Amino acid sequence: MECLVCNTKMEPYFEKKYDIKTHIFERCPSCGLVINSTVYNMSEAEWSDANNVHKSFQGEIDTQNPSWKKRISRLQPQAELVYQLYINGLFDEDTKAVDYGGGDGLFSEMIQKDYLEKCHTSQKKFLVKTYEKYLQIKDKDGYYNEQDMTPKSFDLAICSAVLEHMIGREDVDYFFNLVNDTGVAIIHTLICESVPQDPDWFYISMPVHCTLWTNEAMSRIYTQHGFVGCAYHLPSKMWLFFKDSEKYNLCKDISSKIPGEWTFSPSFVDYWKAPPYHHHAMDPR
Ligand SMILES: [Zn+2]
Repeated sequence: MECLVCNTKMEPYFEKKYDIKTHIFERCPSCGLVINSTVYNMSEAEWSDANNVHKSFQGEIDTQNPSWKKRISRLQPQAELVYQLYINGLFDEDTKAVDYGGGDGLFSEMIQKDYLEKCHTSQKKFLVKTYEKYLQIKDKDGYYNEQDMTPKSFDLAICSAVLEHMIGREDVDYFFNLVNDTGVAIIHTLICESVPQDPDWFYISMPVHCTLWTNEAMSRIYTQHGFVGCAYHLPSKMWLFFKDSEKYNLCKDISSKIPGEWTFSPSFVDYWKAPPYHHHAMDPR
């Protein structure tokens, strides 16, 4: 298979057994991207089944469920960051914003709750609406439909824990192409210096994590999509990619008002350079 980032021929890296099926992971010798090529070669139906299993905890509010707890502990600091960016003027109520692949819409609701609690009033029911192509939700409050998803029409496009599920360049480009010329993409995924050659790596305990990102691979995507500024916010483990330097500089200016460590660079911020790739190695997502 050819690397979706740089078209280099990928090489076998390791094998891993999920239930009874052996999956093959391939690595790009140029940018280090690793993919689960067995998943890449699955039919749409097989892939959809795998995703449904993964999403089964969504929407079911069970505070004792470890998957639910993990999801909440990932989303809470991320909602807090997005809310802070709104109240500090990087975004406002006119911002066209999407949580891409946001499933049951919980993230959008959490942002709204933070915003309403602290600002008391909002003209909009949802500052950030959700788009979820797998759930096929029509005319539900707080959701975008397929026809809303025009390229370059969003001021803010968020993608939290979705890029590792994507299959192929088209999916990746679809997301980044949503951002307009002054827009911002905010992403959360695991991006490491080198994907461990280890079938027992925690991050691939489920086969749905089929595209494993490296600093070099994401840096090339960043450049190819014409981003000019990058910020990494540690507590939320989110990267902000800026299409225009004015917004990038504004984010730098307001960052001191937003709690947590920030790193800024005109190029992609390769924050995680050595394993373990996250401080909380046991709770990386
Ligand atoms: Zn590559």
